[in-house]
Amino acid sequence: MKLLNHAGRAVLQLGDHRLDVEVASDGRFGPDPQGVFTDWCAFTAWASTHRGGCHRPEALVTLDPALLGAPVPRPPQVFAVGLNYRSHAEETNLAPATVMPLTFTKFPSAITGPYTDLELTGDTVDWEIELVAVIGRAGFRIPAERAWEHVAGLTVGQDFSDRTVQMTGSPPQFSLGKSFPGFAPLGPALVTTQELADPDRLALRCTVNGEPVQTGSTVEMIHPVADLVSMLSRICALGPGDVIFTGTPEGVGMGRKPPRYLRPGDLVVSEIEGLGRIEQRCVEQGGARTGADT
Ligand code: ZN
Repeated sequence: MKLLNHAGRAVLQLGDHRLDVEVASDGRFGPDPQGVFTDWCAFTAWASTHRGGCHRPEALVTLDPALLGAPVPRPPQVFAVGLNYRSHAEETNLAPATVMPLTFTKFPSAITGPYTDLELTGDTVDWEIELVAVIGRAGFRIPAERAWEHVAGLTVGQDFSDRTVQMTGSPPQFSLGKSFPGFAPLGPALVTTQELADPDRLALRCTVNGEPVQTGSTVEMIHPVADLVSMLSRICALGPGDVIFTGTPEGVGMGRKPPRYLRPGDLVVSEIEGLGRIEQRCVEQGGARTGADT
């Protein structure tokens, strides 16, 4: 199944049907898209009963893409992993960590929906397409072989980064440089792993103004999703609705010679196989229109 945040309400997508979760469940779940993760097992059990159809007409939702917000709008914890693809580590001249991956956060105020304006905070804002895993079942010290049982689903994310802020100081400010408003768009949907032939092997592609800048597959991760869940949960208790940005493959602007960064008017499209695409239009600081993001 797929789960949408439509105008701030949880919407379940089953094939071509979209159901308002609160209406269809008689108030048992929803309307808050973040709230469905707190009782994820019960929610998925309920959702599976709707596969066959028999939807009340008042629960049906007509999709307006402009109203889509982040499927996980207020995660309690946001983990972001750096240097998780060897090719990207090489282009940044940084050595990937082997035991514990480089981990930082994107503060939750950076999260927006899938189709947004991105306010450029300077002249060194860069793109990083990333697979984002969402925790459904709480856990601590989760063994890797059981890690997928704790994942509610996957979505597409961008780890936009102001490289000047990120690299300022010693040690550098990874978390702040990646947490300006709008720097963590998510969407268009949360997709459960049952929808995917192989959740560990998803093609990903980022284009700027139609030109492919990043192409790869999540199979190239040094630490795949299950390893990340397991490793992070050795230290932090993971809870429902937490998200993990899993790193980016090669092709970011910083690694180019000369470096290339985003400019007003640029369109960044980030697409992952089976999950869909998100689109950000770059605008000058102060130039963003107000979106439907919640
Ligand atoms: Zn990143």
